[in-house]
Amino acid sequence: MTILDGKKVSDDIKNEIAAEVQKMKDNGEKVPHLAAVIVGDDGASLTYVGSKVKACERVGFQSTMVRLPNTTSQFELLDKIEELNTNDDIDGFIIQLPLPPQIDTQKVLMAVDPSKDVDGFHPENFGKMALDMSTFIPATPFGILELLERYNVDTKGKHTVVIGRSHIVGRPMSILMSRKGWPGNSTVTLTHSNTKNIAQITTQADIVISALGVPNFLKAEMVRDDAVVIDVGITRVPDETNPKGYAIVGDVDFENVSKKASFITPVPGGVGPMTIAMLLKNTLLAREQRKGN
Ligand code: NAP
Repeated sequence: MTILDGKKVSDDIKNEIAAEVQKMKDNGEKVPHLAAVIVGDDGASLTYVGSKVKACERVGFQSTMVRLPNTTSQFELLDKIEELNTNDDIDGFIIQLPLPPQIDTQKVLMAVDPSKDVDGFHPENFGKMALDMSTFIPATPFGILELLERYNVDTKGKHTVVIGRSHIVGRPMSILMSRKGWPGNSTVTLTHSNTKNIAQITTQADIVISALGVPNFLKAEMVRDDAVVIDVGITRVPDETNPKGYAIVGDVDFENVSKKASFITPVPGGVGPMTIAMLLKNTLLAREQRKGN
């Protein structure tokens, strides 16, 4: 069994990006600039955005955090987005989800200029991805592809079962694994909360990608021997032994599933760090594209 070490691979990617940024600096060029908009004071969201800002600093990007109160109206947020769309200094920006209930998330994501949409959530970019066109691939699925590629995991002709159909993880993952190319060329089954007999389906899988957010959902008896198991889940569970008061757990019963799997991602240290690395990669791409314009 091989651990797909997202922490290590994401460090490698950050080093590669930092080297690119150094070249830009040496040539007197502008470095990539990522902005992150956060509405409200949700603890997990603040932690995620904080990590993204820290990652920008590490690779030499410029970063801007835009913090708006929980009471922000949709109009005010759209105004801020327009400002970021037209600010030439910003190469890419993200709107941290979830947004408060008074805001229509889909409307907000559609207001982001597709050329700055480094999260790859705009329908134009999502459509391009589905059509195998070059675009910003959502960071979490992009990170999973990168992990599979760097560990040389065979996906061609394999049966991939994706659990969860969210617009940011499960749905794009199912499209990417079925595309012509590598990683890809899989036969994909996309499952969700209405799927019947899910264990019967997962036991048929060569590759299981679990993205539902239910701790220890995927048990050893739900996977076949030598399966590749990717755990996207991140759930905070109360833990008095941890100074933070909580522990981060995935969707997979790692202790038992890892005894059967050929490759497996841990939580933490698997898909999570890859997501941030690929957001940086998309931002670098956004800078390069703007330079070409
Ligand atoms: P989401 O929007 O809540 O979607 C969850 C999906 O799981 C839905 O499609 C839902 O089905 C399905 N589901 C729920 N219960 C199920 C069950 N019992 N059996 C089968 N399917 C079930 O979640 P998300 O945003 O995709 O995130 C999923 C998990 O990944 C969360 O733990 C999140 O924190 C984590 N995450 C991690 C990263 C990372 O960087 N590692 C990034 C993003 C998200 P329905 O569609 O029928 O409701």
